[in-house]
Amino acid sequence: MSTSNEPSFRESVDIMFNRAVALLDLPPGLEEKIRVCNATYTVRFGVRLRGKIETFTGYRSVHSEHMEPVKGGIRYSMGVNQDEVEALAALMTYKCALVETPFGGSKGGLCIDPREYEEHELELITRRFAYELAKRDLINPSQNVPAPDMGTGEREMAWIADQYRRMNTTDINGAACVTGKPINAGGIHGRTEATGRGVQYALREFFRHSEDVKIAGLTGKLDGKRVVVQGLGNVGYHAAKFLTDEDGAIVTGIIERDGALISDDGLDIDAVHAWIRKHGGVANYPNAEFVENGASVLEKECDILIPAAMEGVIDMTNADQIKAPLIIEAANGPVTAGADEILRKKGCVIIPDMYANAGGVTVSYFEWVKNLSHIRFGRMQRRQEEARHQLVVDELERLDRYMGDAWSMTPDFKAKYLKGADELELVRSGLDDTMRQAYQDMRALWHDRDDVDDLRTAAYLVAITRVAGSYRAKGL
Ligand code: GLU
Repeated sequence: MSTSNEPSFRESVDIMFNRAVALLDLPPGLEEKIRVCNATYTVRFGVRLRGKIETFTGYRSVHSEHMEPVKGGIRYSMGVNQDEVEALAALMTYKCALVETPFGGSKGGLCIDPREYEEHELELITRRFAYELAKRDLINPSQNVPAPDMGTGEREMAWIADQYRRMNTTDINGAACVTGKPINAGGIHGRTEATGRGVQYALREFFRHSEDVKIAGLTGKLDGKRVVVQGLGNVGYHAAKFLTDEDGAIVTGIIERDGALISDDGLDIDAVHAWIRKHGGVANYPNAEFVENGASVLEKECDILIPAAMEGVIDMTNADQIKAPLIIEAANGPVTAGADEILRKKGCVIIPDMYANAGGVTVSYFEWVKNLSHIRFGRMQRRQEEARHQLVVDELERLDRYMGDAWSMTPDFKAKYLKGADELELVRSGLDDTMRQAYQDMRALWHDRDDVDDLRTAAYLVAITRVAGSYRAKGL
């Protein structure tokens, strides 16, 4: 955890922004305009629970409206405060610009420990919070579109969408007021896994560039790489699962609230996940060594470290002890500005948060477009695509008969080729394309400019240039 001589989270984001913006030649004053947070709203409201009125404090911060709607999650945690939502809103601006989702940046939070409440109580609280935000247009399909974040998920998003609809009964685009909804409430396939999937696609793209892999002091592909994951929540779980199941990586450490598990043979992600759900933590999990001081496992020898829990976990007190040559920031702001400097000097390569965890907002963008177009992706094309493929297969079958033993189709070619893409496949394809393109945009600057020696600075440069471009186009 951050020590008192470390800057706050928002200051940390500003320090990183300043380092990058100094390399750009922006018109006077524009730099300041981009950096500052446009507005932060604080709402306090009472809910009658268990026979008494309880007062809650929530925030929605709007960092930049160079594009609207503005976008960003709503977090439920006791750590929520103005500084935090402002830092997270700023990161949303840069993230959206980097991955080219047409949104400004925003973030919200409610100061609450959701584990302290029953489901029906959480529904009451969420609906009331949504009401407070919606009546100020801080939830609105064309102005401000929230999504899940720490402590929230599709259940909360469904309540928020329903609450907005009750307040705006004639808004035909009402479903687009929030993303991350369940499928039966207007959600999109692949949104829940999206941030973890994006982490996987980011790593796959990194490992496609052997020059970059070499800078991190690594070789080869993802297969066999030893990975330590901090936080087995939605993002950490999906990233760890996909990397092990599909890319041959080995998760040798999992850090959770109550301690960590280590195993050099590799941990079974689904088994650990199920254990945490049942027992509330990793303690007493039978098939691995338990380490009570979980944070110490961040310092374990490994190839890739994935902080996927919360901000500030790698700070000036532990940065020097981190041994991973490659860190991918699945959480927002897990490395403080001070730690970032220490790690850079050590030669550690950091794939920065605004890129690494952008899979969530990317698929949110697809969901928003789906809601506005009122049709599932692939519904018009899928069977037509299959019919055209059938024509080719018919011809190949004719050739197959004609050639006799000399030639035949590869056994599973027909089934694979005939199958038209469904919504999930289209979402994954769009996400993969987004993650590849954004990485290539960052790395072009990283390698082409002598004054850019890390991916974070490159990411900020790409993002700030785009935000500045849209302010200029508006005449600012
Ligand atoms: N809360 C996620 C983030 O930090 C997702 C935001 C969104 O989908 O709008 O990127």
